[in-house]
Amino acid sequence: MNEFALIENFFANKTQQRKDVALGIGDDCALVEIPSQHQLAITTDTLVADVHFFKNAMAFDVGYKSLAVNLSDLAAMGAEPTWFTLALTLPDANEKWLDEFCQGLFSCANKYQVQLIGGDLTRGPLSITIEAFGFVPQNEAIRRDQAKTGDFIYVTNTLGDAAFGLHILQNKLSPIHENYFLKKLYRPEPCIAYGEKLRKIAHAAIDISDGLAGDLEHILGKSHKGAIIFVDKLPLSDELRSSLSENEAIELALHGGDDYELCFTAEANVKIPFDCTCIGKITDNLGLDLQFTSGEKYNSTIKGYKHF
Ligand SMILES: [Mg+2]
Repeated sequence: MNEFALIENFFANKTQQRKDVALGIGDDCALVEIPSQHQLAITTDTLVADVHFFKNAMAFDVGYKSLAVNLSDLAAMGAEPTWFTLALTLPDANEKWLDEFCQGLFSCANKYQVQLIGGDLTRGPLSITIEAFGFVPQNEAIRRDQAKTGDFIYVTNTLGDAAFGLHILQNKLSPIHENYFLKKLYRPEPCIAYGEKLRKIAHAAIDISDGLAGDLEHILGKSHKGAIIFVDKLPLSDELRSSLSENEAIELALHGGDDYELCFTAEANVKIPFDCTCIGKITDNLGLDLQFTSGEKYNSTIKGYKHF
């Protein structure tokens, strides 16, 4: 199949057709409508085989995750996802791989009601670039640079599970709860609904892709603030607690990647409209201060995942 046949077969009309798309796949550009009093949030991410995922990973999971991680960035800004484009580089036209990849990709797209509006297919080492778009009401986007001294710091759900999934794969382990951890690694769920609810509540937010400590430091750096984190408050799943010592679990929660949970700050004691965990507070002392609630210092030397 040539490029046009592949696009027609695998990509055209596979996602729901949104009313705000005037023209989708098939012309030089897509044409879309943006509601008045809204801003467009735009993000892009590239996943490269054997850097961001294993070449032998299930194509369905690769497809699902490559969109989910982009939607996670929109969630972190409080944006409602709308559309995406896909630039796919494939070593060969392996139709079975492509079919499974598309099933994963479109199951994520349809779950979050985003439409594929364009893209590009090329031959080369396997890599996937997605650009995702979303709406956010004017001036309500949640940025990284607005954390205030005295804010409480929160995270959604639990941390460290996906990182333990990666550890399982890298060391060829098969522990109890293996499927739980692998699912957390392969099928992250972007926190879209949380992000939208935080619009007028959170001062600053980020999605945790490279580990809580490293990602929180982006908020601190942009906001020119510091933070105290109480490591014994970090939310850990029962599965993680039962698989590791407390210290190992804390290390994964702080420095493991791939959680795609939200870390956000909000004025102390303001009501958060969903369950989440308060893990510390924003201070004027620059840097990240890790301690136990008892006041004892926590010593950790590992840094978050850095791409370069
Ligand atoms: Mg992000």
